[in-house]
Amino acid sequence: MADLGVFGLTIPENYGGLGLSKTAMCIVSEELSRGWIGTGSLGTRSEIAAELILIGGNEEQKIKFLPKIAKGEILPTAVFSEPDIGSDLAHLKTRAKLNGNNYEVTGNKTWITHGARANLMTMLVRTKKDIKDHNGLSILLAEKTSGTEDNPFPDQNIKGGEIEVIGYRGMKEYDIAFERYEVPSSHLLGQKEGQGFRQLMSTFESARIQTAARALGVSQNACDLALKYSQERVQFGKELINFSRISEKIAAMFAETMIARQLTLYAARIKDTGQRCDMEAGMSKLLAARTAWASADGALQVHGGIGFASETPISRILADSRILSIFEGTAEIQAQVIAKRLFESNNR
Ligand SMILES: Cc1cc2nc3c(=O)[nH]c(=O)nc-3n(C[C@H](O)[C@H](O)[C@H](O)COP(=O)(O)OP(=O)(O)OC[C@H]3O[C@@H](n4cnc5c(N)ncnc54)[C@H](O)[C@@H]3O)c2cc1C
Repeated sequence: MADLGVFGLTIPENYGGLGLSKTAMCIVSEELSRGWIGTGSLGTRSEIAAELILIGGNEEQKIKFLPKIAKGEILPTAVFSEPDIGSDLAHLKTRAKLNGNNYEVTGNKTWITHGARANLMTMLVRTKKDIKDHNGLSILLAEKTSGTEDNPFPDQNIKGGEIEVIGYRGMKEYDIAFERYEVPSSHLLGQKEGQGFRQLMSTFESARIQTAARALGVSQNACDLALKYSQERVQFGKELINFSRISEKIAAMFAETMIARQLTLYAARIKDTGQRCDMEAGMSKLLAARTAWASADGALQVHGGIGFASETPISRILADSRILSIFEGTAEIQAQVIAKRLFESNNR
């Protein structure tokens, strides 16, 4: 994937990337996720980290991290969620205290995808203890040693345990505990405290468009598997595709996937012009995630009993598709973003 340029797709050429558009990123993410959501998701972390550094980082940080992210030499992980804090990130508690030239990070994070193997953590932490809302948060670019199967977290002052999940396996999610984990103060994103929440929010549009593209890949895979199986499986002396309840179900799945794709590409094109697109990104993430789940459900139904067997690819796709309405902002949060914008434009 690194040789193909996947990790540096949207990183400008002067920082070692391919300098392509968000629209191109969507097409690549969809195709990778069509094979397996895990490959599309490896790209997500690089996309989020690169965008964070491009938007919020200083020149020194851009030169240090971006070329290595583009080459796949640095695999980032997004360290935001905590056991008590998911959707409401503004109130997270993990503390980073400045001690000399280092921040010491103490606290618990959860659901950290690819946390063990990654070697760069984009961490959202509270640097201003007395400011309890989003104004007290900062982003640290915290390096770590890439773990192995036997020793997932080799560094001192950081411990982690895997969370068993029903789908989206292989990427692996972790609970991670930090106890005075040291990060050089020069790795404070943009060298500005209190900007972390805003810096992260400025990457939400791209991350949501990218997640919508992942959902499209999962959805298209489900459609393709349903079509193939319906042309092979014979009941009552005919291939399943000859039964109208089956063919119409598959037709609707293809149509819905196409609608979600056009909406996602529309959001990406707006992003490429540099305009605000939080509503369009939210719509595409909301709709594409729901479509992926519906397509996987429909495709499993077309498979009948064998679809429920874990040896069958569609059973994995059903489990994989479920996560898409939860991470990168739940469906409810996307709906909230959309409703807020509708309300704003109604009151203009
Ligand atoms: C497989 C997986 C991978 C993940 N990877 C990462 C990762 O790499 N890094 C990371 O930092 N996090 C990651 N997450 C965490 C993910 O971002 C959160 O699960 C998500 O933001 C939701 O937070 P929560 O689970 O705490 O749910 P909560 O925020 O507790 O929400 C529970 C329910 O209440 C709803 N709800 C919450 N607030 C509102 C509201 N204001 N209005 C209406 N409904 C609301 C939610 O939509 C949801 O349905 C991952 C999660 C999973 C399951």
